[in-house]
Amino acid sequence: MVEFAPVPDFARGPKIPDSGYLVTELGGGAYGITSGLVTTMFLVTKKGVVVVDAPPDLGEKLLIGVEEVTPKPITHLIYSHAHADHIGSAHLLTRDGLKIVAHELTAQFIKEAQDDNRPLPNETFGGARSELSIDGERIILEYTGDWHQAGNLFIHLPEQKILTAIDSFTVKNAPFFRLAFSAHVPAYFDAMDQMLEYDFETVVSGHMALFGTPEDVQTNREYIRDLRASATEALRMVDLREAVAAVPDDNRQAQLKVWMDAVVARAAELMPASWGKRLGGNDIFLTDNLNAVAWSVFID
Ligand SMILES: [Zn+2]
Repeated sequence: MVEFAPVPDFARGPKIPDSGYLVTELGGGAYGITSGLVTTMFLVTKKGVVVVDAPPDLGEKLLIGVEEVTPKPITHLIYSHAHADHIGSAHLLTRDGLKIVAHELTAQFIKEAQDDNRPLPNETFGGARSELSIDGERIILEYTGDWHQAGNLFIHLPEQKILTAIDSFTVKNAPFFRLAFSAHVPAYFDAMDQMLEYDFETVVSGHMALFGTPEDVQTNREYIRDLRASATEALRMVDLREAVAAVPDDNRQAQLKVWMDAVVARAAELMPASWGKRLGGNDIFLTDNLNAVAWSVFID
């Protein structure tokens, strides 16, 4: 068993009750809901409820959480992106008249997946922007690039000052695995700048129990910039021939693997040690994150 650093108190978030979910009021009719592992939000309007995503880790608890707040029906479901860990319980919300809104690239992924638990959206848009007006509530959907998966949305509620950016980062923690499985690392770096251009006070980022602030986005940006600086320096420092000296000449694939492992190990040494005190999960995901960033620096 690998030893991990204890989870720092600041990264833990609230305790989840025995019910398995926790609803948090975010203001202006908006609520956050979390299972502890996944987090999303919903907005109560005059006539109904607009829900973002339907993660299986919440499952029925999402419906119970909404009912705890309001008897109004769920009228709209917005897909942040196509991944099953965020929308794989959408079938539980389907009813006559439910509008499912997504980017057309998200609809394409869902079509390919042929997954009955992820019903196809019935209102899609292409391009970069769509603005919804639901009972007078403004919801702005923006697609700025494939920072996580093609079709992923920034969902901005300007009145409530909430930005929902599912799988963009983890509040008070290092990004999961390879920059949260980013489809395109340069777009991931751009996404942090783009997020900070919105007018918001709360960010809903999709995983673990905490909601964040613009400062948390800034911290993640600083962290990934340190990953990139360390990876860039390590790529310069690690000598390919030296690194692969023990690998047989005719095994080029093994050489690549051993070389990149050496780059990542060197980059890890170059990362400021203070991150262990500033973010949870740094020790868990550091080498995966560095691997993603180092390859990106090398090939993008
Ligand atoms: Zn995802």
